[in-house]
Amino acid sequence: VPDDIARACQALQPELVRTRRALHSHPELSGEERETAAFVADVLDRLGLSVRTGVGGHGVVAELGEGGPVLLLRADMDALPLDEVAGRAYGSTVPGVMHACGHDAHTAALLGAAQLLAERSASVRGRVRLLFQPAEEVASGALAAIEAGVLEDAAAAVAAHVMAPLPFGPVAVWHGDALSGVDFFAISFEGGTGHSAQAGSPAVLAAGRAIAEQDAGFVVASVEGGRAANVLASRVTLRGTHRWQLDEGRDAAVERATRAVESIAAATGTTGTLSVLARVPPLANAPSVAELVAAAVGATGRAEAIDPGPVPFSDDFAHIAARVPSCFFGVGAGGADAAPHHHPAFDVDERAVGLTAEILTRVALAWPG
Ligand SMILES: [Zn+2]
Ligand SMILES: [Zn+2]
Repeated sequence: VPDDIARACQALQPELVRTRRALHSHPELSGEERETAAFVADVLDRLGLSVRTGVGGHGVVAELGEGGPVLLLRADMDALPLDEVAGRAYGSTVPGVMHACGHDAHTAALLGAAQLLAERSASVRGRVRLLFQPAEEVASGALAAIEAGVLEDAAAAVAAHVMAPLPFGPVAVWHGDALSGVDFFAISFEGGTGHSAQAGSPAVLAAGRAIAEQDAGFVVASVEGGRAANVLASRVTLRGTHRWQLDEGRDAAVERATRAVESIAAATGTTGTLSVLARVPPLANAPSVAELVAAAVGATGRAEAIDPGPVPFSDDFAHIAARVPSCFFGVGAGGADAAPHHHPAFDVDERAVGLTAEILTRVALAWPG
């Protein structure tokens, strides 16, 4: 029998879908979430919550309840630099920008939870802080929000992510190790001694070798360099990610890659550099907070908590989880045939938006446990 929260969430579902689609059609890149933040702040404002904007960039924070302990609920808001497949009624209206990771769904779900909680504010014990975080995809937003004080008095933190590989129904609630660490890296080759058109650009040659030699975990995602068929590129930059589980393995791999870049540079007469642009640590959930989330999943009566073991994804919520007991959970929103995250055809089973809102609401109302 659905209880009051389940019924309220069901009634809210059409509005959550409208909100998610409105956000989906107006994606903004990391660090540029101006309109998204304004939209979020407006909704929170109309719910009667006190709202803080400009938190660590375009972050928005609102709170319910009084005193402590503080539970932080976090959603990310940013989109990615790619073109969405054509033909979707609610598709991106911004060329070259797309919500291809589901952060539109997360934002809509946390706004839904905000509404459900605002309607039940008398039942909120302690304090619940809602964080709408910018710049997750460039791995700087969580740190900026932490510097802006979002973890003040926080005793626990919870974040949701839709998961394309999982169908709607199972919800991944890790009770320990969950996500990989990641380095965002750039490798540049510059200059070179060969200047004949026959030999080609040394920087391009060096970059080609580096791509051919990419080793365990170092994955090149993009190549940038040169502008013409008959002008040798003087600089080529490779950008990509390196995923890792343990600090020791990470440091050794970065050192190995740096030596490889130096040796390729020496062989091609170029100058080679490897720089780590951003770093996110591996994410492990605190069992106590995971149990709170798993109980909330069960209470919905329409989803099942599973622990799939560590998965090779990353999220900068790891910076928060490294500081306070946390739970990151993955809501099934795709399936075997679904396009993966960061893909032009990525989409979300929108039932996951309502389910996420319901889980977050139940976690907040169960707080402090
Ligand atoms: Zn992503
Ligand atoms: Zn994401």
